[in-house]
This record gives sequence, C-alpha cells and structure tokens, in this order.
Amino acid sequence: MVESDHEVALEDTDRIHGRSAFVNNVKAAVALSSAVRSTLGPKGLDKMLVDEDGGATVTNDGVTVLETAKVEHPTARLLVSTSSAQDRAARDGTTTAVILTSELLQNSLELVRTGIHPSVILNGYRIALSEAQEELERVSKSDISEEQMRLAVATSLSGKVDSAVGDHLTGLALEALDSISADEGGDDLERLRVKRMRVKDGSTMDSEVVNGLVLPKSRMDIASEATSEGGRIVIIDGGMESPSLDLDASIEVTNLGAMKEFHDRAQNRMREQVEQLASMDVDLLVVRDGIEEVASTMLTDAGITAYRRFEREDLEILSRMTGANMARDSSRLRPEDVGTYTSRSEQAYSGIKHTRIDGSEGGAVTVVIRGSSPAVREEVERAFDDAMGVALRLSKEPRLLPGGGAIQTHLARHLRAFASSQSGREQMAIEAYAAALEIVPRTLAENSGLDPIDAVLGLSAAQAAKDGGAWVGLDIGSGQNAKMDELGVFDPLFVSRHALDCSTEAACSVLRIDDVLWAKQDAQTPDWQSEMEDQD
Ligand code: ADP
Ligand code: MG
Repeated sequence: MVESDHEVALEDTDRIHGRSAFVNNVKAAVALSSAVRSTLGPKGLDKMLVDEDGGATVTNDGVTVLETAKVEHPTARLLVSTSSAQDRAARDGTTTAVILTSELLQNSLELVRTGIHPSVILNGYRIALSEAQEELERVSKSDISEEQMRLAVATSLSGKVDSAVGDHLTGLALEALDSISADEGGDDLERLRVKRMRVKDGSTMDSEVVNGLVLPKSRMDIASEATSEGGRIVIIDGGMESPSLDLDASIEVTNLGAMKEFHDRAQNRMREQVEQLASMDVDLLVVRDGIEEVASTMLTDAGITAYRRFEREDLEILSRMTGANMARDSSRLRPEDVGTYTSRSEQAYSGIKHTRIDGSEGGAVTVVIRGSSPAVREEVERAFDDAMGVALRLSKEPRLLPGGGAIQTHLARHLRAFASSQSGREQMAIEAYAAALEIVPRTLAENSGLDPIDAVLGLSAAQAAKDGGAWVGLDIGSGQNAKMDELGVFDPLFVSRHALDCSTEAACSVLRIDDVLWAKQDAQTPDWQSEMEDQD
C-alpha cells in the first residue's frame, strides 16, 4: 500500500514538480534580483526601506535591502542567504552574487526549454566555475602598492556614500587596520579589536580613529581615581550584587535583629569579594551587570576604580586587549584571569564623559562615527564596516582584479573559447555560464544610463583589440572603455572568487530541485501557477 501512503502524506500539500517547479523557482530568483540590480555600481540608485512603524532606512547596500525585505518564497530566501554568505565571507560583492545567481538560473531555464537535462547543466556549470577560478588567479595582480590598496577599498565604497566620505572612511579603515594588523586572528579581528562608536554631533567628515577602547562610561564612584598610568584589571561577566529582597516576598521576622542580620551578611559577602580583588592587586574592575551600592566605597577604599553595566561586545574587546579572562563572578576568579592595561583616562564626546582604556596585549581602536542624523550615522557605520572588512581581508590576500565589468567580460570571452574545447552538451552550459557573467557589465552600463548591449559588445571588442586585454573595463564616469589599473578601479580577488563560488552553488542547488511541496496552510503562498501557464 505504498502508493496510498504517499497520497495520504501529500494531502495537505500543493505539489509543483518537474519543469513547473523549476520555472517557479527561477521566477522567484529573477524577481528578487530585479529588486537589487539597480543598486549596482557607483551610479546605482538607493533604496528606501520602510518598516512597519514607518521608520525609513535609505541604503545602497544589496545585502541590507535583502535582509530587511520580507521574503516568502523559499528560492528567494536562498538568494538572500547567498547574499548574506557573501557579506560574511567577503564583505563586498553582495549585489553581484545575487544578480549572477539569478542570471545563471535564467540561462539554465533557456537550456532546459531546449531539452537539456539539468544534470548536464550542473556538470557544465561546475566545469565553467573551476576554469573561471583558475583564470581569475591568473589575471589577478599581486604586487600591489599602498595606493592601489587604498583605491581598492575606496572602490568597494563607491556608490554607497559620496566619494569624499568614501575616501575619508577608507583612510579611517586603513588607519585602524594599521593598529591591529600585527595581531593574530581571523576575519573577525576587526570585530574583536575595532569598536564602532556613534556620536551625535559633528559631520560625517569629522569621524575619526582613536587608539584604545573608548566607552560611554564614567566611573561608579566619583571619589575613585579618574586616571591611571596602568595596572591590573578584572572583568566580571555577571554582577556584583547580593541577592535582593523581593518587595513582595514575605519574610517572617521572628526577632528584631533578623533584618539587620540579613543586611550584615550581604555586606560581609561584598566585603570578602572586595578584599579578594584587593589581594590580587587589582585596581580596575569592570562588571557587565550591576555593582551593589554598598560596594562602591569599599572598592574606592581598596584603591579599585569600578565601572558597571557593559555591552558584552565591549567586554570582549577589553578582554582581548588586556589579556583578562572574563569570570562569571568574583568567587571564581583565578590569579591568571587578571589582565593588565597600560592607561586609563577620561574624555568628553558630545558633552558626555567617556572613558578610554589602552591594553597591554596589542591595540584596540575605536572608530568614532559622526553624522547629522541617526540614519546617516547608521549608513556611515555600514560603509565603514565594508571598508574595514575589505581592508583587513586585502591585507591578508593582497591580490586585485580589474573592476568596471572588466573581469566578468574577460571571463566570458575566456569561457567561450574554452567551451569549444569541450565535447558534449556541457559545451552549451559553459556558454550559458559565460553569458551569465556579462550581467555585471550590462547592469553597470544600464545603471549609468548607457546602452547595455552596445556597452557589452564594445567592451568585449576593446578587450580583444591589440592593446586591449583583461584589464579594459567600463569607465562609468565617461562611458568609455579604459584600463582599470590606470583608472584605479579595482575589485579584490577574494570578492570576485567568492561571488562566483556562492552564486554557482546557489544556482546549482536550485537546478537540483525537481519537486516543490508547499504546505497548504501557508495562506501567503503566491499563486505562480497562472503565470507559469502563459510562460511555459
Ligand atoms: P556589490 O554589492 O556587488 O559590491 P556595488 O554596488 O558595490 O555592488 O558595485 C560593485 C561593482 O561596481 C563592481 O563590479 C565594481 O567593479 C564596479 N565599480 C565600482 N566603482 C566603479 C567605477 N568607478 N567605474 C566602474 N565600475 C565600478
Ligand atoms: Mg560593493
């Protein structure tokens, strides 16, 4: 009775399978990519995202658009996660990854319609990917100057913020990188060592890098030391509070001294903790949660300056830069958990007292982000994040490719020549892959008001010409073709490599689906069926 078991299992399900399922999935991908393609490149337009409460964000960042959008279709969601994966891994190239995925899918749909089996396309796409990756490595420039590095970071910001701000943020990212680059650590180094602090007054161009960790905090007891030339620090990832008496808790007071005894005991416990800290020669105490008021004077008397109520992220930076291990509470503190700092001082930002701490275990820096409104500051912070991420990754893998659609045009030409060396139907899939890559120069041209077909053909011809080559790309400013190294438009190798990887992988995973089972209770399921009939 296997047959009827299936029927039962699918009772509450809409089933789309075979070609219809694929058409449906490709449509979702195309719809999503058309939502972000107009943001590509320095002349890309911005999107205004309005949330349910009417709050608006204006952004040019593909991944921000997608992560904010309410996306229902599972294939569209897959594209959103492709773009997030690109963001995590490379910090740039998020729009490129999405439009490439959608173009790869659209081209494979054409092939499916001419009767080519998806498994042949999968195979062809994989061959094309590995050939393209080799070619990327070959074309990339590896002896890059400091100026070229700066230009590459600035290119990643073009279109996101205006070019003066972009240059300024690029400078800040490189300055911050300078202070942390000696440290060991993976790609999250910039999160662990670079604090972003948004400050209300000043303009975007006044944003600056401050060495050390700056926190919007003032010391708990004004009588304790305001500055220090360094010493020993303890970080508590919890609180220093005695269990409080809940207001509605009822205690049966059997004798007059019971309440006093309760308080005395709490106070003694606190004293013991402070004494323990003092015995470890600690003079700076940082606590994530609260510190009991009664402890305040005790700490000051013991020569300890205390700070309370911190964000976890700040504590992590502090822990990295001082070598202090965070302890759950002071009773679990071991001597090796104590860290050292080299200086502590107070400074005012926007009229608010801040504390600056420098560590002994290498640097941490604070990037003070200024801007006229919260929305501006957020967009500037996002742009700085990208600049910082690209700068850090570039410092580890300093290899560059030409931007302005040059590398994709070159790969397309290379793959077309390579396809003819392949036998079998895979050849057609490799050609489809090559054509898909041209979506990048095409969209860049489109977004700059140029004719996309003329631009792609012209670029291809210019690369094939005698003095051409892979570095000829589209100069968005003049609408002409130009050598991208002379123009200073660079894309990092890791950005392009990762964009190819993740968009091919996403397209292949959609190609592999031949059955979509929709649970019927989902009232939001779009009605693709009617549209599919006139398309298919
Ligand atoms: P993504 O999210 O994919 O990074 P962007 O909007 O940042 O999208 O656009 C990146 C594309 O714009 C890259 O292909 C890059 O080469 C191109 N680009 C950036 N600046 C220029 C420029 N000045 N001239 C031509 N192309 C540029
Ligand atoms: Mg970019």
